Amino acid sequence: NEDARVYRKHHHCKVSGDDIPLPIGSFEDLLSRFQLHKHLLDNLNKQNFTDPTPIQAEAIPALLNGRDVIACAPTGSGKTLAYGIPLVQALHEHKKNVGFRGLILAPTRELAAQIYDEVIKLSRGRDLQVCILNKSTATKFRNKVVSPQKYDILISTPLRLVESIKDGSIELNNVHHLILDEADKLFEQGFLEQTDDILAACSNKQLQRALFSATLPSGVETMAHTIMHAPIRVIIGHKEG
Ligand code: ADP
Ligand code: MG
Repeated sequence: NEDARVYRKHHHCKVSGDDIPLPIGSFEDLLSRFQLHKHLLDNLNKQNFTDPTPIQAEAIPALLNGRDVIACAPTGSGKTLAYGIPLVQALHEHKKNVGFRGLILAPTRELAAQIYDEVIKLSRGRDLQVCILNKSTATKFRNKVVSPQKYDILISTPLRLVESIKDGSIELNNVHHLILDEADKLFEQGFLEQTDDILAACSNKQLQRALFSATLPSGVETMAHTIMHAPIRVIIGHKEG
């Protein structure tokens, strides 16, 4: 497709893998191409988001096609929505007695909190339950004051989640969508073992994996390929590291 070729050249998008979908030109394209729920488009418009950034144009169709994705794009290029839109579209509304179906892993509490805010804005108007794992929520799960089945999406840092997995207060066997944000940091010394434990706990056979990062050092890329199935790889600009 000539339009896609021109778009990719102009925005420095390198996309590789089998059966790569065309990039989207606007968020509205998602209505016809992927039956995007109307409220999601409304929530984007409310924030004055009309045109996708390049990482969004490429990663959103790949994720909505159910593909594993390795994505590298600079800081500030809109990676949160690039995985947030497909996640909220796929989960759509609260499902009773199932528990976490989406998991977003982030290296710091500050980042986890920012992601939480963005996902909340996206899911407005729908009964989708989003949980950020912190000291308070982890204690409630451990003491069985709150059931994890109340929630659909979990956002956490690695260490806090590993603790909750190990003490049996959180299970991840129903997670269908796993996102590793700032993955370069998640695969660094200190986080690597925790990330491994979390990957092991996501035991669902139909798990979709996505990895987003501002840099893609070759070690991270190698690691990514060991956990993914026929991923689509999207690089915007020049990968560093
Ligand atoms: P990254 O994770 O790549 O560093 P973020 O997801 O944090 O980037 O987004 C950076 C900023 O860009 C945020 O303030 C976000 O609200 C804004 N943004 C994201 N997507 C769009 C868009 N399509 N149009 C306009 N602004 C956007
Ligand atoms: Mg980010």
